[in-house]
Amino acid sequence: MKFDLHCHSHFSDGNHPPEFLIQRAIANNVTHLAITDHDCVQVFKQPVEVPQELTLIPGVEISCTWNGQEIHVVGLGIDVEAQQLTAILDIQQKSRRERAATMAKRLASFTDYDLESYLESLPCISRTRSHIANFLVKEGASKNHQQAFKKYLSRKGKLYCPANWCDLETAISSINSAGGIAVVAHPSRYPFTRKKLLSLLSDFKQAGGAAIETAYSNLDPLARKKLEDACDEMDLYASCGSDFHSIENTWTDIGKFHSFAESKKNSIWNHPRWHFSHNSPQAV
Ligand code: AMP
Ligand code: MN
Ligand code: MN
Ligand code: MN
Repeated sequence: MKFDLHCHSHFSDGNHPPEFLIQRAIANNVTHLAITDHDCVQVFKQPVEVPQELTLIPGVEISCTWNGQEIHVVGLGIDVEAQQLTAILDIQQKSRRERAATMAKRLASFTDYDLESYLESLPCISRTRSHIANFLVKEGASKNHQQAFKKYLSRKGKLYCPANWCDLETAISSINSAGGIAVVAHPSRYPFTRKKLLSLLSDFKQAGGAAIETAYSNLDPLARKKLEDACDEMDLYASCGSDFHSIENTWTDIGKFHSFAESKKNSIWNHPRWHFSHNSPQAV
């Protein structure tokens, strides 16, 4: 068994359609794959063929705020038609569109770039800063993604416009009310001291959150150990996922990250609400 419980399709800022993610997962021996697009579940609302050897888990990654800091919460095993979740995702989509439109207007005020038409031409439902970075690189305004973020899209960037995300409690309750399991995504990527991380985890748990990611791409052994300790200390479940976006990013691939022992008691697949098979068909 091999689990990858965090990745993106072209319905948000991933570069590939779901069929590609599924084939890549199988090629990398992943048995359980969750597609977790930013604020969007479109990938689960259309027919997609899933070969028998793979279990596809409906997921989402919700951007939210906690104490003025942006936090990403992954929801796993959600009912993608659930009412409260649908309502929250609709609001998040509206915020994303408004933010992208503001950025497009700002860009048009000092260039003749037509960002709005570019965004219209994409298959994405969720408009992200990543798409805008791609556009800036395509137009030659930036050398690469990283530069585009630095010069235009980060907090001090020329186009920066704060997003109007829901709060942490709302993200968690919309996942729980959809029968899902709420997971703090990539905890080491927030600019937190250990004390602040534990404070986040405490509020997260209090609000009904269940797990944190303790294994993902680019996580060094020391940082991983700190997250595993925090997970144990807060009595949370542990999740894992590549956060795969594109085959061009050679440092991340589906299923390619340090994983934890399948038997670990606090692995997310031992959570009472986990309702996917633990055994791959070959093992049954
Ligand atoms: P958004 O959710 O619209 O703010 O877009 C954020 C997305 O952009 C993230 O999900 C990442 O995939 C990507 N991203 C964020 N920060 C950076 C960065 N500094 N460099 C490259 N990509 C980034
Ligand atoms: Mn992303
Ligand atoms: Mn994220
Ligand atoms: Mn992600």
